[in-house]
Amino acid sequence: MSATVLSMRDEVMAWYATHARDLPWRTPERTPWGVLVSEVMLQQTPVSRVEPVWYSWMQRWPEPADLAGEEPGTAIRAWGRLGYPRRALRLHAAAGAIVDRHGGRVPSAHADLLALPGVGSYTAAAVATFAFGQRHVVLDTNVRRVLARAASGQQFPARTTTAAEYRLTDGLLPTDDSAPTWSVAVMELGALVCTARNPRCDECPIAGSCAWRLAGAPPHDGPPRRGQAWEGTDRQVRGRLMAVLRGTDHPVPKHQLDAVWPAAVQRERALDGLVSDGLVEPLDDELYRLPGV
Ligand code: SF4
Repeated sequence: MSATVLSMRDEVMAWYATHARDLPWRTPERTPWGVLVSEVMLQQTPVSRVEPVWYSWMQRWPEPADLAGEEPGTAIRAWGRLGYPRRALRLHAAAGAIVDRHGGRVPSAHADLLALPGVGSYTAAAVATFAFGQRHVVLDTNVRRVLARAASGQQFPARTTTAAEYRLTDGLLPTDDSAPTWSVAVMELGALVCTARNPRCDECPIAGSCAWRLAGAPPHDGPPRRGQAWEGTDRQVRGRLMAVLRGTDHPVPKHQLDAVWPAAVQRERALDGLVSDGLVEPLDDELYRLPGV
């Protein structure tokens, strides 16, 4: 490992020691369950929106068994407006598996975490790292962006994770017990400083060695990056349908759902999708509800 890389690691960890946000899933009192819930919530939703929902979940369901004892629809309702509500179902299913297979305690072994329903390789690595202090490659979008710039001289990483990227991240990961700190530090740098649109290089602890900056910040020359379209999409329709169903404890008649979106074909497609995803339960007499509630 070169002296430059070693000093980059030290600088990022020193920066983190003074700039880290005070987040509840990072405190010494955090539980593995709290870490798992936070990781799933944070996958597609910013911290500011996750934090209040995370607090309310932890208060209501401090242990996996508490959530596992609920109907899935209750978890979906408590998911509120975090978006991509299938994540609530995945957490509910994971809680059930933790109770059934692990006596209600979140397992620490990476393979056991990965075997939980709805837990992918990123989440398993993140929980093993941040809840149990293990050494795993934790490669989220923030980490990928920082390393693409600082180490590879590219403004943005490839669309999907490459083997080379994995090897680079693994090579940078400390072999001692500072591995979790490095992972969370580089993630935080991506979230706060090396942001996608406007990196604040003037405030960056590794500006002096960043390959992309030293190359004059060349613009992205890969395939166009996907935007997060929302207006007029099926996702927007699904969101409106879910908002109606979340907002009541009673089954909702179809005509009330029909009122949320004028284009019938798109609306029916969205509703069918919600039903097949297990997020909405159709009842007799054209009534719909969240599953089980
Ligand atoms: S110098 Fe700028 S581009 Fe490079 S890692 Fe820091 S914030 Fe990102």
